Amino acid sequence: MLDDDACYSRLARRDPAADGEFFVAVKTTGIYCRPICPARLPLRQNVSFFRTAAAAHANGYRPCLRCRPESAPDSPAWLGTLASVRRALNLIDNGFLVDRDVDALADTLGMTARHLRRLFMKHLGVGPMAVEQVRRLHLAKKLMHETALPITEIAFAAGYGSLRRFNEVFLKAFKRPPSSLRRKREVNSSAAPLAVSIALRPDSISFPTPDQLALEVGTSASALIRSVKGSAVTVELVNIAPKDIAAAISEIKQRLHGHRPGVAIRQPPLAAPAGGNAGNQADGTAG
Ligand SMILES: [Zn+2]
Repeated sequence: MLDDDACYSRLARRDPAADGEFFVAVKTTGIYCRPICPARLPLRQNVSFFRTAAAAHANGYRPCLRCRPESAPDSPAWLGTLASVRRALNLIDNGFLVDRDVDALADTLGMTARHLRRLFMKHLGVGPMAVEQVRRLHLAKKLMHETALPITEIAFAAGYGSLRRFNEVFLKAFKRPPSSLRRKREVNSSAAPLAVSIALRPDSISFPTPDQLALEVGTSASALIRSVKGSAVTVELVNIAPKDIAAAISEIKQRLHGHRPGVAIRQPPLAAPAGGNAGNQADGTAG
């Protein structure tokens, strides 16, 4: 359980270490934020705190357009949670639930769907499908904000079966169409560089120089670090199909985190022996 008073005082001082640890939802606006949101501090009686964006979402709140909760670093609580929950989260992050259901996910993890749901409720406050819904929404929002990918490709990349479905869900969640997140002068184009930002916890990152990290993701795609600003890393994805974007981002996040909190990357991962690193199987790479 979160200690609301402690959360509020961390919110009041916009504690960078709180970023990703919890989200604050404001009852008067229906919006949820990262604790570092630059917006004016809401009154104590108007806020509630959630450990996950998915829980805030499940309670009817929508993500702030300013602090962009979809860009928050992964929660250390998630990293510290049960190994099976963590594995499930990784699989979901990789797009497992795009074309398979919770039963299949539970099966992969060697447990019943009922048990998996119970673990999720206990550790994250929401079930696996709620996590998946927020994952799709967040990824779509992120790609709308940060890239020039055409909306149809974004819908597909985020795991929506159709553009119509994507528009529906987006409109419901944000009370505005996806295109409203685009800056006017941006040209939608699949040809523009596909660069996304990945936020890491301030305590889990250390790079020698940005250009020392070049990752291979999937068979033909690669990722190049373009810039590092504080704990936000901008990564360009090269040669990647929309359906592989989710898995690539998830993979990059894992590598940047070095799989464990507090472990810094000091060597370019490509220098590691090929196919090494246990515990990071490229799941969900069908197709
Ligand atoms: Zn905010």
